[in-house]
Amino acid sequence: MASEAILQAFAFVWGAVWGSFLNVVIHRLPRDESLVRPGSRCGACGTPIRWYDNVPIVSYFVLRGRCRACRAAYSPRYMLVEAACGVLTLVLFRATVLPLDPETFYAGALAWLWYQVFLYALVAITFIDLEHTFIPDEVTYPTIAIGLLGGFLLPGRDGFEQLWGAVGGAGFLLAVIGIGWLLYRREAMGFGDVKLLAMIGAYLGWRALPFVVFASAIQALLAAAAAMIYRRVTGHQPRLLMTLGEVDDKFGVEDEAPDHLREKAALPYGPFLALAALEGMLFGGDLFWRFADHLARWLFEATS
Ligand SMILES: [Zn+2]
Repeated sequence: MASEAILQAFAFVWGAVWGSFLNVVIHRLPRDESLVRPGSRCGACGTPIRWYDNVPIVSYFVLRGRCRACRAAYSPRYMLVEAACGVLTLVLFRATVLPLDPETFYAGALAWLWYQVFLYALVAITFIDLEHTFIPDEVTYPTIAIGLLGGFLLPGRDGFEQLWGAVGGAGFLLAVIGIGWLLYRREAMGFGDVKLLAMIGAYLGWRALPFVVFASAIQALLAAAAAMIYRRVTGHQPRLLMTLGEVDDKFGVEDEAPDHLREKAALPYGPFLALAALEGMLFGGDLFWRFADHLARWLFEATS
């Protein structure tokens, strides 16, 4: 249907525009700057960026990734965030609103908006954590609230399943931090990760938690291995990988880790939780049960 094609084009553009706003959030929120004033400026020369040079995705290619005034190169991250938000918002639109049906249209559109809050929060958290190694409460707290609100108010959802998801997610990582503290006398991960897994549980429900925890841990291990190979081969320190000592210095930890621990590799865990949550959101439902089933069988066989 022609109208479906037009709506899908709209969904993509709508997502790309939100991606453009997320770039502002990712840059300014960790620096405690206002999200609305002043308007976008070139980071190198300070020239205000005009509206026709601020079109999501398109402007990056028109200007070949450079400032019109001073020709300073912009990071392709801005364009990639816009493109990713456009594509993922479109995917969510197809899953919630299409095929068009007057009976379900408004409920579908509401679910679409509700999932977008989750998607954009995951994107903002990923890039803020990668750059600054912390997860802002300004993102996690409201998203937890909106997630739970949707669980109780949107049709066809189970609010308690999501409430237990939030409680279980936070409780699990708090237990991990507690055990890490007993073993190493230091925090194995930040409290930002605790709030992030609570946020993921508040949206995807408690059934998603085993999948999200395992998928994020495996992908984080793979990324750490790839980063170490990269460092070994090129001699460059990849930005993803830090040592525990660097993390301690950054946060001004007084009671520093012993030397043999200071050299251990550390990497931000938030982006991997967010990635696993995204995979869960897009392929979830069945996947969670199949995963939990396999895990339970494997554990049962391993212990019997
Ligand atoms: Zn400039």
